[in-house]
Amino acid sequence: MKHFPLFLDLDGRCVVVSGAGECAVHKLRLLLKTSARIKVYGRRPVPQIRAWAMEGRLELFARPLHEGDAEGATLCYCANDNPAEDARAAEISRAQGALVSIVDNLVDSEFITPAIVDRDPVTVAIGTEGAAPVLARKIKAELEAMLPVSLGLLARIGQQFRSSASVLKPGQQRRRFWSRFFEREGPDAISNGGESAARASLGDLLNATLAEREVTGKVFLVGAGPGDAELMTLKARRALDSADTVLCDSSVPGEVLELARRESEMIIVDDRGCGTSLKHPDAIATAAELARAGKIVVRLKTGDPAVFGGLDGDIAVLEEAGVQWEIVPGVTAASASAAAIGQSLTCGNGYSGIRLVTAQELDTFSERDWQDLSRPGAVAAIYMGIGAARLIQGRLLMYGASEGTAVTVVENASRPNQKIFDTTIVGLPGAIVRERVDGPALLLLGLLPRNRSLGAGLNDLAKRML
Ligand code: SAH
Repeated sequence: MKHFPLFLDLDGRCVVVSGAGECAVHKLRLLLKTSARIKVYGRRPVPQIRAWAMEGRLELFARPLHEGDAEGATLCYCANDNPAEDARAAEISRAQGALVSIVDNLVDSEFITPAIVDRDPVTVAIGTEGAAPVLARKIKAELEAMLPVSLGLLARIGQQFRSSASVLKPGQQRRRFWSRFFEREGPDAISNGGESAARASLGDLLNATLAEREVTGKVFLVGAGPGDAELMTLKARRALDSADTVLCDSSVPGEVLELARRESEMIIVDDRGCGTSLKHPDAIATAAELARAGKIVVRLKTGDPAVFGGLDGDIAVLEEAGVQWEIVPGVTAASASAAAIGQSLTCGNGYSGIRLVTAQELDTFSERDWQDLSRPGAVAAIYMGIGAARLIQGRLLMYGASEGTAVTVVENASRPNQKIFDTTIVGLPGAIVRERVDGPALLLLGLLPRNRSLGAGLNDLAKRML
């Protein structure tokens, strides 16, 4: 992030605009939303700027910016539509200590103005580091459609009620009150009876919330999906929104963590449990303890918590502690990997199904398990299999699998750095070294990427016909 977003208090401060043409009008429309003192310098001002000057909304000087004009200015916009004049004005303003932004000149600007969604006092600023203004405008349009025009009014009404709402307990009770107001009661009251109805609804809602009995804590065992934030379920996002504490596996990517409520406490869970992180076995005990103290806790795991996510052990601890729990499933790595290679997990070409196995449990595999995996046409998704590739290869061959059986490796499925390659049982260990697999990866035994499998599928069929 080169440009750091922040909200600058311009109340009573001076902003200078060099340029009085159409280009300046565009910036002035934004600046006039603030309570800054605005001074505009430029020859032949367009009628709109003259009109604003007549209304007393800005000071207009129908001449170029001179030395001394930017004295005391906080910001200076150079909007002359003329690079030479912009550079001259920028130099003067900079020398006088103002931060300078030159329209359509990212390199020489000290700041850029984001695309703004204005629901004052709620303001959303969207920036793309100047790289994709079209994208910023698209996001702005989507947010505008999402945020009702009444949002600003609701926020103002809410702001004035803040001290009355302080009788509510901080944390869950208070949060429940405000989310009900902003999500349901407030918008309903505004559309049925306008501003006064919205104000009145606050008092009723406060009494109703105070009358409710204390809510008890709960642990949500939530699947974060394979890494692409868009593959999180709405239910998972809702659980994150309501959480007081999120206990999160360190393998969950930052993009997904961003969605966790900012005010919630975030505890990272990893294998080491050092510093501020917790060790895996301690995480669920901590979750149970917090829930017993009335907190809403999210235990966030990659993929689906019910697939090699230690779910049974977690539930046993929660049951033992007498804590309420709920599972929110997620997209498991096998589903994401199948999607990445364009194949169905259950194949539909005569195989009887897929087995999900983890290489961590290889030593508990029975002879039957290995025979099953080694029979012709077997399909399996092998989790955590990278380090055990040689062992898997040895056993499969020992139990009669054909050397040429396809294995597709999907690394970082659904993430921007996703990598796919296919090999055979005999080539697997070598391919893993060659491809330098170091992220989470799944071995899809008996499956090829669709674009590679057309011929192979036919051969397979032909072989079986013989
Ligand atoms: N509960 C998880 C699995 C946890 S075990 C799930 O349902 O997906 C961890 C293993 O999952 C990793 O070693 C890897 O084999 C697999 N895995 C997790 N995320 C993955 C991803 N994005 N791409 C490929 N494999 C992944």
